[in-house]
Amino acid sequence: LKDFYTDSDGNTEPNPRFYRTGEKRLKFYQRRASRKKKGSANRKKAINKLGRTHLKISRQREEHAKRLARCVIRSNDLVAYEDLRVRNLVKNHCIAKSISDAGWYQFRRWLEHFGEKFGRVTVAVNPAYTSQNCSNCGEVVKKSLSTRTHVCKCGCQLDRDHNAAINILDRALGTVGHIGTLVTDQNACREETSILPGSGLVEQVASLKQESPRLMTGECQDVRKHRDHKP
Ligand SMILES: [Zn+2]
Repeated sequence: LKDFYTDSDGNTEPNPRFYRTGEKRLKFYQRRASRKKKGSANRKKAINKLGRTHLKISRQREEHAKRLARCVIRSNDLVAYEDLRVRNLVKNHCIAKSISDAGWYQFRRWLEHFGEKFGRVTVAVNPAYTSQNCSNCGEVVKKSLSTRTHVCKCGCQLDRDHNAAINILDRALGTVGHIGTLVTDQNACREETSILPGSGLVEQVASLKQESPRLMTGECQDVRKHRDHKP
């Protein structure tokens, strides 16, 4: 939970401070509301305060996600990221984790929004093993969540997230089956082909798409499933 963002060049963006303070404040007001007598005016007041705290945090989160997404999109031709597991997001009740998960969800939506607006390719890839595989030699290097550094026999030593980011980019360039899928979009199966003209990516993407038609259908079904599971 230290960094909000890490890319394949090793750039990082720390988690905003309001994630931590927001989590504390939410816990405080939740406790306060649950201690007041049911139906009392004080309970109403406490619940109202809790709601406003939620709203404030969600606005800050949105602002942060939007600013960073715009910056990332403007400075790259192709942006790849791990595919979102909406179901995990719904299941999770831990406050700290849910704030950062929701932040990540918004960040991804803004990436896709600005990708379309500024003509950049956005690719969501299968997140399986992106952190376990060595980005240099492909060897599996098992690590738990607390292992923050990737150290491989081949001599490759990287920050855990940096290593994963390189794997995500490699995967995106290898399988372009998930191009610009917008989870919230009604036409989720529609392909977003807003690509910089003359960037060379158009041809690459088109040929890869023909090679992996099954991947496309798989993603469409996935998206539908995700949509059904939305709260
Ligand atoms: Zn290696």
